[in-house]
Amino acid sequence: MKLSVHVCEECGNTSVPARLICPSCRAVGFRIEEIEGTGSVYTFTKINISSVEFKHLTPYYVVLVDLISGERVTGRIKEEIQINDKVELVDIEEGAYIFRKCG
Ligand SMILES: [Zn+2]
Repeated sequence: MKLSVHVCEECGNTSVPARLICPSCRAVGFRIEEIEGTGSVYTFTKINISSVEFKHLTPYYVVLVDLISGERVTGRIKEEIQINDKVELVDIEEGAYIFRKCG
C-alpha cells in the first residue's frame, strides 16, 4: 500500500512524517503526495519487553525502512528480519507504519 509524504512547495524536499517547516529551506508550504510503501530494511531493533500499551504485540521489531522513493521511515514488523530484506507497507495503525516481508 501507499503512504503520504509532504513535499515542500519551495524546494521539493520530502518529509515523512509531516513537518511544519521545511528542514531544507524553512518554507511552510507543503503538498501531499502518495508514494509506494515498499523498500528495504536499513536497520532494526527487536522489542522483547514493552510498555503495557504494546505488550500484546511483543516480540516485534522496530524497523527503519529505506523506501524505493528514497524516504527513510520508521515502522513495526512482526516477522524475523535481516538488514536489506525487502519489505512492504501493509497497514497504518494509529500513525505507525506496519510492514511485512515481501519478494
Ligand atoms: Zn523546502
